[in-house]
Order: sequence, then C-alpha cells, then structure tokens
Amino acid sequence: MTQLLRHPYGDIDDLAAAYADHTPKDLLSGLINDVFGARIALVSSFGAESAVLLHMISQIKADAPVIFLDTGKLFAETLAYQQKLSARLGLKNVQIMRPDPIHEADFDPDLDLSQTNTAVCCFFRKTVPLRKALRGYPAWITGRKSYQAQTRAHLPRFERDGLHIKVNPLANWTPEHVAQYMESHELPAHPLVAKGFPSIGCSDCTTPVASGEDARAGRWRGQDQTECGIHFAGGKLVRASAA
Ligand code: SF4
Repeated sequence: MTQLLRHPYGDIDDLAAAYADHTPKDLLSGLINDVFGARIALVSSFGAESAVLLHMISQIKADAPVIFLDTGKLFAETLAYQQKLSARLGLKNVQIMRPDPIHEADFDPDLDLSQTNTAVCCFFRKTVPLRKALRGYPAWITGRKSYQAQTRAHLPRFERDGLHIKVNPLANWTPEHVAQYMESHELPAHPLVAKGFPSIGCSDCTTPVASGEDARAGRWRGQDQTECGIHFAGGKLVRASAA
C-alpha cells in the first residue's frame, strides 16, 4: 500500500526525469545538496566496486552518512579494506551496524546457520540491522549495476522501497566505467578482487567466479538465493542480492 503513496520527497518518476542527464556524481550531488540534505545515506558493502561511490561521496560531502553492515561473517580482508579506504577518502560519518547479539544467540548459536537457512541468517544479520540504520533516512543509495547479474538487468536509477526511495546512481554503468573511474582516481582495489572475487559478501556464502560467469555467480552458489534480503521490489522481498 505504501508503494502507492506519493513519497514526501516526490515521485520517483519525477526524480528520474529531473536527473536523467546527470552523471552519477552530479546526481549524487543534487540529491545530497538540493533534495535530501543529510537525510540520504549510502549503504556500502566496501566490496569489489564500492570505492567508486565512496569516492564520489567523499568529494561531495565527506560527512554524508555511509552505512556499513558488519554481518559478523565478513572476510577479514573486507574489514581491513573498510578501515583503510575510509581513512584514505577521509569519510567522516561511517556508521557500522551489526546484528543484535540476542538474535545471534537465539538464531545462530553455533554460527553455522548459513549452511542450513540463509533466509533467516540474512534476515537477522543484514535486513534487521539495515532497517534499523535507515530510520531517519527517507532515501538510500546503493552501488548496484545492471550488468552484475541477470536479476538486475532492468535496474532503474530510482526505486520505491516501502517508505524509502532507493537510488542506484551506477545502474547503467559498465565494468569499463568502473575500471576507468578506479584507475583515474587511483582507488585501491579490494584485495580479494585479484583472487577471483568480483562480488564480495559474507565469507560463508561467497566463492570465486570463473571466466564467463555473472559477477554475482559466486554469491550463494548452488542455492536459489541471489539477493540477501536488503533489497525489495514492489514491497516484496526479492529473493535474488546486496550491494
Ligand atoms: S550472506 Fe550467508 S553468512 Fe551472510 S548473512 Fe546471508 S546467509 Fe548469513
């Protein structure tokens, strides 16, 4: 029902039309400086391609909110990269969200739930902390791109996510755009990229990807799940990924 209501900050079709010709950085600048102010947050996994949006944000407003979900199951390399990249870019408002310890004790006391029930594991490790983090932010930004997987082939720049507006500034970027941006701004790569991980999530549920596979083929490999539950469409959970 909430999907049908006009958002207080405007209709997503109007926003999409107003920013149709803007580059990703200009789009972000407009949304942060002219539309949402401090009420829009970037949700970043500090994964393989996250440096692009993090760099743009650092150039526009270094104290813009950045939400990082530390699921308790991330690679050690991701945690180190988050620290290193945040310092390098001078990010001043990185908010680290973690699962509720009570949920972890109740649902995953042996820390092996990812082997038997990924839906519940993702729900208390990702979905609940994100929903908590987004209180107070009517809009959020993701790093998703249409080339990452077939399930994202028609990704728009603006979406409604229940009461939130979700913005995908890089929706129509190609891998070449990302590579060029990383190179021209001398951004450090996530250390696992060189080891065959073009998409990086939790260590329990991420494998390297072979040549020719979707970038996200290594996420929940061999399972029906392709999204972690932080992305919704039409008010329903898309059982298909995260940023
Ligand atoms: S990606 Fe795997 S380990 Fe991470 S929260 Fe989801 S099921 Fe759990």
